[in-house]
Amino acid sequence: MLAIYIAMEAEAAGLLTELNARPLADEPAIGNYYEASFQGSPLILATSGKDRATGVCCVGTEPAALVANELIAHHGVSTLLNAGTCGAHSSLEADIAEAFLVHPTLSYHDHRIPLPGFLDYGLGRHPAADLVPQLAAQLGVRTASLSTGNSLDHVDRDMDIFLSNGAHLKDMEGAALAWVCRQHQVPLMALKVVTDIFDLPHPAAEQFEKNLAAASLEVTRTTLRLLASLLPRLEDPE
Ligand code: SAH
Repeated sequence: MLAIYIAMEAEAAGLLTELNARPLADEPAIGNYYEASFQGSPLILATSGKDRATGVCCVGTEPAALVANELIAHHGVSTLLNAGTCGAHSSLEADIAEAFLVHPTLSYHDHRIPLPGFLDYGLGRHPAADLVPQLAAQLGVRTASLSTGNSLDHVDRDMDIFLSNGAHLKDMEGAALAWVCRQHQVPLMALKVVTDIFDLPHPAAEQFEKNLAAASLEVTRTTLRLLASLLPRLEDPE
């Protein structure tokens, strides 16, 4: 079964409505879980839920990893789609609210472990599902690699590693989801819509808040188009 992980409620609201999603009973403490269907195929939607201490959405890697593990280990999820927003590097010349499918890799730019073996473990460089380029061509969206860190802003070292990861898209969840999927040998896809050009002098946080609504509409629109292409392939891989 397919599950869609969306970190923030604002990003998920449109899809939850469009897919007529209903909360699952007996939710674990971390994450919000919904059942839904698209053109007769059942699927699960999950969001990061709210942080008890501060009340904000649980963006970032830990909630993403815990929810992904829950979905795969306890809900029979065999393909995971991450849908959400991201920053784009200016060299990508992306438009605000432009949608991308992540390919070929999802890496980290803030896991620095300069020891043999651990260096590569820290960088991740996890593969996106093989069928992503075909889906991107079908949808008419560009592909780009993604790099993940637990900060919305970045320091110079983050940027150096981000660029050496071959990434053009920046988020706070993708590589964590990809790591869990890789451990379970489950394919991962990520659909990311640009809220900000993160290397401009104008802070990413301000751009993010200004553009979140428009980007979230595009998350809904392109995810629905993606489901229409993807679900028949998952049911009948030939
Ligand atoms: N102040 C915001 C915080 C959201 S954090 C709020 O609560 O409204 C940003 C979220 O969008 C994360 O889930 C992350 O994956 C994504 N994101 C968008 N632009 C980003 C960027 N430039 N860097 C990292 N993550 C980004």
